[in-house]
Amino acid sequence: MANEFPETLTIAGTDSGGGAGVMADLKTMQERNVFGTAVVVAVTAQNTLGVQDFMAVPQHLIDEQFASLAADFNIRACKTGMLADAEHVHDVVVNLKKNCFGPLTVDPVMIAKGGAALLADDAVTTVRDELVPLADVLTPNIPEAERLTGLTIESSDQMVQAALALQDLGAKNIVIKGGHEATPDEASDFVLMADGRSFWLTAPRIDTVRTHGTGDTLSSCITAELAKGQDYETAIRISKDFVTAAIENTIPVGHGHGPLNHWA
Ligand code: PLP
Repeated sequence: MANEFPETLTIAGTDSGGGAGVMADLKTMQERNVFGTAVVVAVTAQNTLGVQDFMAVPQHLIDEQFASLAADFNIRACKTGMLADAEHVHDVVVNLKKNCFGPLTVDPVMIAKGGAALLADDAVTTVRDELVPLADVLTPNIPEAERLTGLTIESSDQMVQAALALQDLGAKNIVIKGGHEATPDEASDFVLMADGRSFWLTAPRIDTVRTHGTGDTLSSCITAELAKGQDYETAIRISKDFVTAAIENTIPVGHGHGPLNHWA
């Protein structure tokens, strides 16, 4: 029988400002009618003006969070977000291999929009070599795709090349988010599916500063839809529409880059 309220998991960092990370993930999951659980990997002191500080959670406590969830829940799909440093990336990989949490969406979070590094520089190779090969869906923005592949992305052709390179690294379905690209009118994401099909997801570019947490919202929406049994393409398409609607409907909070907070 279909699970009425599928259980999902986010493995990520918190945002005290309520806009990104674990907070955005759990709000999105609730909004998409799945039950969200969380392994907290790092705690940030953060608001809409930026990230003031963060600390990674001791690894034994991360292992214990995984063990607690594995002992009780039937996780149907999971995602990773901010993982802080190489040791924590490795520890998360070990725990993901130990447990069966369903399809994995990897949001390879590196730098916040305000410029704060959420992943240590030397952890990029650990993400590339250990985590990316486990990804059923990989959702880098352009700077993250560039760091992972070593390619420069300045055109749509180069986005396609980068997606192919990310598949060569072992990720199955790739969504390269073009929101950071300097195209004036559109926010186009390139999707390369595991079977080689590809397509562009295009939405009108919305002129707003209130985009904090868009990447987290996209990846947690994909996770929610996969947990409900949607196929990968449908989950990705629904999530792009969900994020676009959220950017359009969000209500100002805070004094800086306000978070997504209102969906329809
Ligand atoms: N803080 C945390 C804990 C995050 O996971 C992320 C993104 O994944 C951010 C901040 C950055 O959010 P944004 O770049 O959308 O402002």
